[in-house]
Amino acid sequence: MVLVGALASPEISIAEPAAPEAEVREVVERWFRADALGSAEELKSILGAATSIVEKRGSKWVPVTAETLASRASGVAPDEFRRVRRVESLRVSHSEASVVLSVESPRDKRRDRLTLKPETGGWRIVADRRETTPKPSPAEDVRTLLAEWTKPVQPFHILGNVHYVGANGVSAFLLTTPSGHVLLDSGPVEMLPRLERNIEALGFHLADVKLLLNSHAHYDHCGAFAEIKRRTGASLIASEADGTEMEHGGLGDFAYGDDYRYEPVTPDRHVGDGERVELGGLSLTAILTPGHTRGCTTWSTRVEEGGRTYDVVFVCGLTVAPFKLTNNPVYPAVAADTRRSIARLRAQHADVMLAAHGFWFDLTGKASRLAQARRTGATNPFVDPGQLGRHLDEVERDLAESLAAQEHERAP
Ligand SMILES: [Zn+2]
Repeated sequence: MVLVGALASPEISIAEPAAPEAEVREVVERWFRADALGSAEELKSILGAATSIVEKRGSKWVPVTAETLASRASGVAPDEFRRVRRVESLRVSHSEASVVLSVESPRDKRRDRLTLKPETGGWRIVADRRETTPKPSPAEDVRTLLAEWTKPVQPFHILGNVHYVGANGVSAFLLTTPSGHVLLDSGPVEMLPRLERNIEALGFHLADVKLLLNSHAHYDHCGAFAEIKRRTGASLIASEADGTEMEHGGLGDFAYGDDYRYEPVTPDRHVGDGERVELGGLSLTAILTPGHTRGCTTWSTRVEEGGRTYDVVFVCGLTVAPFKLTNNPVYPAVAADTRRSIARLRAQHADVMLAAHGFWFDLTGKASRLAQARRTGATNPFVDPGQLGRHLDEVERDLAESLAAQEHERAP
């Protein structure tokens, strides 16, 4: 089977020397650099005088000169900190190379299909097809995402004193104690009525929530904190970095800019790495796992059920693949931090892994198997010591793939 796969693979059957590919990637990096700097001179030098370019305007392909293209370059774009450049494909043969590049900004995605020909001393871009597709506005984006993520699920008891009170795609956990409850994440403000009904359905009350904890300061995880705080007087505890973002109501997020705002809320206390939060015999430890946000907080606790204890880890979120991971002027360490956070969580033992989004720990699958397990006396499917490792493998792979595709890190 392996042999057939190898023979069928085009990379194996058309063996190319590695050098031309490295040379083409070099040209691509110069092209990226010219684009990032908005430098007409650099762009012209890469394109060369003989370049022919066609650009899609509406349904028509219109030819433009290299001069015209260069004349549009006008310095560093104001949204440069959110422009993600990727090599989508790169194919080299003896006579030419074809490369598909993308430059994604908050407003649109531009795709450049380049043809490169070898010439003495290197490769030159000889043809370019450029296509720009507008992206949905943040408001449209939120509507689409929320419709899917906030689909209701039956609230349920997970194990010990941990309950699921969130929705299909966006989590909220209620940890109950005789001295009041801890709510980890609120979901977006639109989810608040459902969150409250979910808590009531399990026989608890939102009014008894004493502590609000957060995975990270994005509207879909803390959007209702301001309102819940007003209604319950609960104390909000957050990492310093994400606490600051909450005070700004999501403005100035390194990845989303000002696109996803929520009502600002001020934490009552900051929590540092390794610090504990306690209530009514319950103790939660903050593990700072920056990357997705600068103060992304994973929480861990130990719960008891049926005479056994279980380590429960609530993963903040390690998704950074869509973000600008290289040459990021506002968060240069985004990739390094994420790598460290992944390594940090590798050292963590979790009998039960839960997370800010249900699709990271198979919420719906496990919930339906749990209902069955409770009828038959089988093991609780949330007790799954391999889940954290599998999840970390997945995010590590996504990070590596995204880093390999994105423009290379340049010397400052
Ligand atoms: Zn997020």
